[in-house]
Amino acid sequence: MNLQALIEDIRQETLPFYDQGKVADYIPALASVRPRQFGFAIQTLDGRQYACGDADVAFSIQSISKAFMLALTLQADGEELWRHVGKEPSGNPFNSLVQLEYEHGIPRNPFINAGALVVTDRAIGHFGDAHSHLLAWLRAESGNAALSADETIAASEREHGDRNAALAHFMKSYGNLIQPVETVLNQYFHNCSIAMSCRELARAGLFLANHGASPQTGRHYLTRSQAKQVNAVMLTCGTYDAAGEFAYRVGLPVKSGVGGGLLAVIPGKMSIAVWSPQLDARGNSVLGLEALDRFTTATGLSIF
Ligand code: GLN
Repeated sequence: MNLQALIEDIRQETLPFYDQGKVADYIPALASVRPRQFGFAIQTLDGRQYACGDADVAFSIQSISKAFMLALTLQADGEELWRHVGKEPSGNPFNSLVQLEYEHGIPRNPFINAGALVVTDRAIGHFGDAHSHLLAWLRAESGNAALSADETIAASEREHGDRNAALAHFMKSYGNLIQPVETVLNQYFHNCSIAMSCRELARAGLFLANHGASPQTGRHYLTRSQAKQVNAVMLTCGTYDAAGEFAYRVGLPVKSGVGGGLLAVIPGKMSIAVWSPQLDARGNSVLGLEALDRFTTATGLSIF
């Protein structure tokens, strides 16, 4: 199958979905993104890349950083991590507080904000500056040594981060956060505000399609079993309360971010990054979902 022609067709088919969603504005610095943009990039295990549209435009990866943070923390923490954070879908929005009290400060999964804050806390325990550790990894795998956090977005997240601060303090009261709240929030916001293009993101996520080892750098990040775990949690929790719809329509492990990016994994074959900033009510890219649905339907490359 001609993948380049296919993704260009998919781009044309999804453009009519512009303006059905809305750019995230609860982080004011994100609201200034030009809404009508669409990028698609595929990186295959045998070293090929296919891309179209705005695949070279850098965007805020936001919660896609949570997939990489989970991987690097799991690598250091092993099974211990799962004593501090669950692995079940939450069925609630990504920034919800309600479950935390019932469940004694143990977040449902590592991809809702509460869970990502716990993962960041544990990563700081292992690496000190977890953000720099993440950046070094992403730089090596994306092939862009200049990759960095967007300080304007990080500052905007901090300024409007009362919900995340509330989550962090609440978990600290249960003893499920070890580091100072300010330190965890600062690292979390910086991870979310890393700017990457679709091409870079597809390359950086390729280890998840290859049982935890990067075909690009030869580095082994996760065991086969851990790579399976991260992909499974992406499938069941990666798009929050829309994980059921994504499994139904796309059928792949996917992690989304409110910058409008989606990272999808086809184990044994390829990684895919799609980006379009307009989001649906659950915080996932409208065109991104349409594009991935069309891609797996046309190729038969879902895990189901
Ligand atoms: N930085 C965002 C937040 O904490 C990430 C949310 C997301 O991408 N779903 O609210």
